[in-house]
Amino acid sequence: MALRDIKGHVSIRQLIARAVTRDTLPPCLVFTGPAGVGKRRLALAVAELLNCEVMANAAEQPNPDACGECRACQRIQRGVHADVLLIEPGETGAIKVDAVRAVVDQAAYRPFEGRRRVVIIDDADRLVPEAQNALLKTLEEPPECSVFLLVTSRPDMLLPTVRSRCPDLRFGGLSTGDIVDLLVHRHEFEPAAARAAAACADGSLAHALETGSADHLQARQSAAAVLRALAPGPNPKQRLEVGKELAGGRRGGKSSAAADRETLTRRLRALGTLFRDLQVVSSRGEPAWLSNADLVQELTELARSYDTERAGRGYASVDRAVHALTRNASPKVVVDWLTLQL
Ligand SMILES: [Zn+2]
Repeated sequence: MALRDIKGHVSIRQLIARAVTRDTLPPCLVFTGPAGVGKRRLALAVAELLNCEVMANAAEQPNPDACGECRACQRIQRGVHADVLLIEPGETGAIKVDAVRAVVDQAAYRPFEGRRRVVIIDDADRLVPEAQNALLKTLEEPPECSVFLLVTSRPDMLLPTVRSRCPDLRFGGLSTGDIVDLLVHRHEFEPAAARAAAACADGSLAHALETGSADHLQARQSAAAVLRALAPGPNPKQRLEVGKELAGGRRGGKSSAAADRETLTRRLRALGTLFRDLQVVSSRGEPAWLSNADLVQELTELARSYDTERAGRGYASVDRAVHALTRNASPKVVVDWLTLQL
């Protein structure tokens, strides 16, 4: 994968391309930031850029990037390039010292087939302390032709001695639009389901992919139905009816207490994104800020009933409700409380 094919992270991509042009890429880097935003993918793109046969003279290019098609690029994509080493947790969930010793030994030699040896350690927070210590000496005196990229969403789990030797590149979340694009073009989501999933994803493709595409769409439909039913400010009895509907299990799916709790949490998260969007609409914010941009017409109609203040209160209440659910509060109690707040 070339840098140009990575979604988001524009400034990080530019920084890396510039560093490669000037030959100032540090020999070790930590890629930090939320899970599921493309850190590992970008690390592999760096490996391609450094070894692409067409890009052999990166120093002469203003915007260097891998071709994605030469023998080296293809071998990296297939995971069989001898100089691009990917280490990740084994079955135990940990990265043990033996795995690190093996790459440290290799890193001392010149690359076999490429220009630079690139060692990518994914989920580097899973390195056991002994493995981190085994890595230290190499990070202190990195071999000339090797680059170490440590990828993690938990940099606090790395030893301070490791962190102090590796500059951080901090990744932010992806935009909703980028996530929709990835879901539709790489994960075969229908556009409507992709938008519903992206709206609740908090900038993480991994979050969007965690549940089935149909589940996201269903959750958003339930959440929108709640907003419509509560728009006129009904009496308490009607509110409890709405709550019952909201807390009901997924139709047509298998039902269990845990699954129902999961379904409710998903619906509430979707409701939260709709309230956030209603705040945007009722305060005449930019349409580009909407998470559910495809529902703009419905949101505009709902905004007549939900002004900025009501939408803000709704968002805060949903947030509290989701928090209570993750703390094992009873779904019925949470929903009954919530519907009276909205
Ligand atoms: Zn290439």
